[in-house]
Amino acid sequence: MRKDVRILLVGEPKVGKTSLIMSLVSEEFPQVVPYRAEEITIPADVTPERVPTHIVDYSEAEQTDEQLSSEISKANVICIVYAVNNKKSIEKVTSHWIPLINDNTDKDSRVPVILVGNKSDLVEHSSMETILPVMNQYTEIETCVECSAKNLKNISELFYYAQKAVLHPTGPLYCPEEKQMKPACIKALTRIFKVSDLDNDGILNDNELNFFQRTCFNAPLVSQALEDVKNVVRKNMIDGVCDNGLTLKGFLFLHTLFIQRGRHETTWTVLRRFGYDDDLELHQDYLFPLTLKVPPDCTTELNHNAYLFLQSVFDKHDKDRDCALSPEELKDLFDVFPYMPWGPDVNNTVCTNDEGWITYQAFIHIRSFAVETQQCVCVCPLRSTVTRDKKIDLQKKQTQRSVFRCNVFGDSGSGKSGFLQAFLGRNLTRQNTVSEEHMSYYAISTAYVYGQEKYLLLHEVFPDFDVLSDTDLACDIVCLVYDASNPHSFEYCARVFKQYFMDTKTPCMMIAAKSDLQEAKQLYALTPLEFCRKHKMPPPQAFTCNTADAPCKDIYTKLTTMAMHPHVTQADLKSSTFWLRVSAGATVFAVLGFAMYRVLLKQR
Ligand code: GDP
Ligand code: MG
Repeated sequence: MRKDVRILLVGEPKVGKTSLIMSLVSEEFPQVVPYRAEEITIPADVTPERVPTHIVDYSEAEQTDEQLSSEISKANVICIVYAVNNKKSIEKVTSHWIPLINDNTDKDSRVPVILVGNKSDLVEHSSMETILPVMNQYTEIETCVECSAKNLKNISELFYYAQKAVLHPTGPLYCPEEKQMKPACIKALTRIFKVSDLDNDGILNDNELNFFQRTCFNAPLVSQALEDVKNVVRKNMIDGVCDNGLTLKGFLFLHTLFIQRGRHETTWTVLRRFGYDDDLELHQDYLFPLTLKVPPDCTTELNHNAYLFLQSVFDKHDKDRDCALSPEELKDLFDVFPYMPWGPDVNNTVCTNDEGWITYQAFIHIRSFAVETQQCVCVCPLRSTVTRDKKIDLQKKQTQRSVFRCNVFGDSGSGKSGFLQAFLGRNLTRQNTVSEEHMSYYAISTAYVYGQEKYLLLHEVFPDFDVLSDTDLACDIVCLVYDASNPHSFEYCARVFKQYFMDTKTPCMMIAAKSDLQEAKQLYALTPLEFCRKHKMPPPQAFTCNTADAPCKDIYTKLTTMAMHPHVTQADLKSSTFWLRVSAGATVFAVLGFAMYRVLLKQR
């Protein structure tokens, strides 16, 4: 959307242009006004559409024709003001003002015009009878409004319409001559319908309508409103509602109705939410979200709507409803994606069911993973969010993020892969069934911290010191893994820590892997426990994945907790006030926005 809006008022002398501006600003009718009001700027937060708005007056007495031409070409929207009690000022709208505007603006980027009939307090009748034919003749006229600067009637409405004409133009959406939506708009809405038709049956049922509603307006729809909407459609057409759901025809009809009733901002909200720009083209950054600019110290995550969307994509393709995607179902799912974003190692990056198929949780994990590692986000109309700077989290001692990255360091053979796979619930026996080339250097799964669902992404870092890159070092928490049964294993961890993490704020955790084997004395100046104490780390955590059942997950919860609260020292972790503080700080999810259907109903 635009950054600001420039509104120009033109018209014959004495029709009340200056008075309209002054009435808007002071909320009272000025008895005496200058020829021309100074340009005013209304700050974004007091305008209905939240964009800074400049209002520019014109006075024949004070300005030259050149100055007028220049103002016309700078304007985003022009109000042609006439006085309803002054016939000549009405005639001049078509004989003078519209041609003058057309002469000073590009044919292609036509500026919207609003006809304003001022001084409505002076007459009994309306000027609409004269004005409507004019409106039909000139498509650049967006709307017309009668108002009175004197008794403040329709003043803020007038400026609201002007703002709306710029921000939500009807031009690209609707053809007034044919009284129907334009082909590009129908095409875009049809695609949106198909994406929202989660079960692919050609009908939007109540669930899908609710989902659509939440997607576009961040608010659910009460069931009565849902019924009312369907009734409006039923009343107007035969096949707009089918099996108690909205058909494509009904969906398009609703939007035509919004536009015809001057509620085209509703349709624009829907289009923009699904990634369309002012020319009804899909945004570049929607198609190629990799260009999402992520400042250093921030990460990307899927937002709430994206989770809802992904849930629906999964449900849509899980045809047999077993909550897992078979290879067939997976192939079907990727038909709608531009390319297959996963390699064969994906099954070993996330949890799978007994057949090795991807579960719903896993599906979400993969998406979070892709976003976190910035591979591909083009799954949904709702973009990922850039989380706030970690430095702010540190200051505020709270984080709203849900995905945390843990880099796992350790010498070769120390048990890193086993540590990753155990997070996916796989014990050593199960891990041994996976072939070497399908092994993954990532594992992502859920960890519950104080009842909140968080995702932890484990990344196994290649142990060669010389090839360590910045991404290998950037993470929320570091795991240093050594083989407790191998006396040469710990030294590597100590070296990594001293070289890369000793002077950073990144929390570190020492893992004593293979704890089911006989413990060996590590060949190092300090024992692992002494080393941890010296560097204010938690003591080494004994870990094994050589278990009969799924390995214990406590360690991953611990890691996520530490990642969420990097400011917390070991002493803090023990104190009870800290726990109280954390549980009291649970985030409240506020639902904002308004329901499109309620708006529609109000119009009836
Ligand atoms: P401009 O030349 O178009 O800027 O018109 P002005 O704002 O200077 O107004 C011209 C005259 O019309 C002034 O005497 C105003 O007081 C009067 N006027 C402006 N708006 C209204 C209105 O809504 N109702 C009435 N009754 N008088 C108005
Ligand atoms: Mg004036």
